[in-house]
Amino acid sequence: MDIHWIGFDADDTLWVNERLYREARTRFDALLASYGIDLAVANRRVDEIEVQNLQWYGYGVMSFGLSLIEAAVDLTQGRISGQGISQVLELTKDMITAEVELLEGAEQALAELSSAHPLLLITKGEPNHQHSKIERSGLRRHFRQVEIVPDKTPASYAEILKRQAVEPERFLMVGNSLKSDILPVVAMGGWAIHIPSDLTWEHEVVEIPPELRSRVFEVAALSELAPFIDTLKGSGTDRETPARRAGTG
Ligand SMILES: [Mg+2]
Repeated sequence: MDIHWIGFDADDTLWVNERLYREARTRFDALLASYGIDLAVANRRVDEIEVQNLQWYGYGVMSFGLSLIEAAVDLTQGRISGQGISQVLELTKDMITAEVELLEGAEQALAELSSAHPLLLITKGEPNHQHSKIERSGLRRHFRQVEIVPDKTPASYAEILKRQAVEPERFLMVGNSLKSDILPVVAMGGWAIHIPSDLTWEHEVVEIPPELRSRVFEVAALSELAPFIDTLKGSGTDRETPARRAGTG
């Protein structure tokens, strides 16, 4: 295998992200409970509004916050108070200003890989917030280029690779999301390593078609990544590798 360029997802691949959403939802539940709202009904409605709004607001905390406000107004039938809305705004702001908590092994994996490979950081979401997290993470210096896209689609990857003059078969993407980091890349002839995260939004889980699975690998942790990529480069693609081939996911 002749892998040269390596792309990295950021949220829940290099640093904690989904846990902040879960914690915010717990705070939001407490607010709804104070209005006597059935939380099982509320959770379904919030999920629905959040996914519907992606097409208008995109991914990220701002979009999430607007969806929570919409859900609060909807579920309380307009009874939510100004103070209630303030609480939603506050929990959203707390997410935006939260400390960037690196996942174990992130710094070392990037330091090791960047000595032999140009690294691209490819993340989706709200540009201001993503830029701020990248700067605060201390990881920026390891990357040749940072790309913040509204969504991770085959077209957005194709555009990035074209701009960097990277052939897909020499590109490997590393990430926690089968939908955003793995499927679009292997579908265009690239390679991918899935590092499952403890928490992943259900919206990001998809099935990898059987014919593409030989282009997908799985490693359990960032600490295993650099040695695994070395092994991949030294082996034919048809040979068994030390890590498991990714399953359906
Ligand atoms: Mg991610």
